[in-house]
Amino acid sequence: MVRRKLVVGNWKMNGSLAANSALLADLSAGLMSEKIDCDIAVCVPAPYLAQCQAALSGSALAWGAQDVSIHASGAYTGEIAATMLCDFGCRYVIVGHSERRAYHAETSQLVAQKTVAALQVGLTPIVCVGETLAEREAGRTDVVVGQQLDAVLALLDASDVAKIVVAYEPVWAIGTGKTATPQMAQDVHAALRLRLAAKDAGAAPMISILYGGSMKPDNAAELMAMVDIDGGLIGGAALKAADFLAIAAAA
Ligand code: PGA
Repeated sequence: MVRRKLVVGNWKMNGSLAANSALLADLSAGLMSEKIDCDIAVCVPAPYLAQCQAALSGSALAWGAQDVSIHASGAYTGEIAATMLCDFGCRYVIVGHSERRAYHAETSQLVAQKTVAALQVGLTPIVCVGETLAEREAGRTDVVVGQQLDAVLALLDASDVAKIVVAYEPVWAIGTGKTATPQMAQDVHAALRLRLAAKDAGAAPMISILYGGSMKPDNAAELMAMVDIDGGLIGGAALKAADFLAIAAAA
């Protein structure tokens, strides 16, 4: 089974109309000139989705959001519905990023509902899982990420399992400059794929499992060379066109 590599930038709460305009122009130009043979996308703050739609429609660079409501519409101040993301041309939405789990008390149950909300409108959810340093040191990595993934799988219809993307992001590696070694990451990715196979043996080989956590141009190739690492979810390095393009070129 050959899975096409996927590289996704997670801009987090960064950007401005002016800065994005320059970054998107540089990315578009780079995509045309450099040898990049993977799927590529940026997940931007919601106010900039219209800007992405205007700048990127018809280009190879897809775009998406960083969160979605579990509700379809109504009295949910501050929330953004999945259909609204579709209005702005999103292909992807990140769900369950560790920053949302940590700062917004998102439970795996809620993450599962967000995954379903995305799938219902045809968005591809990028479901994030990952352990803290304390959990890793206690030898609980596989248990923790397994539970996070199982909570999502429990809510999915059989026909939807193959439509998700999973991102393994060890919390201790995010924004810290510490990266899991390729073998450490591969071990977790392989365990996650086994979980996926337990739910749906046919879907498991088709699901992309991205690695995230201080992926940079100088470590991207060795990480993505691992058999179960199907791409990257890139934070800091996605804010510099040259770095993001270099990571995509390494995919
Ligand atoms: P980082 O972030 O690349 O800056 O570590 C990755 C992420 O949080 O998605």
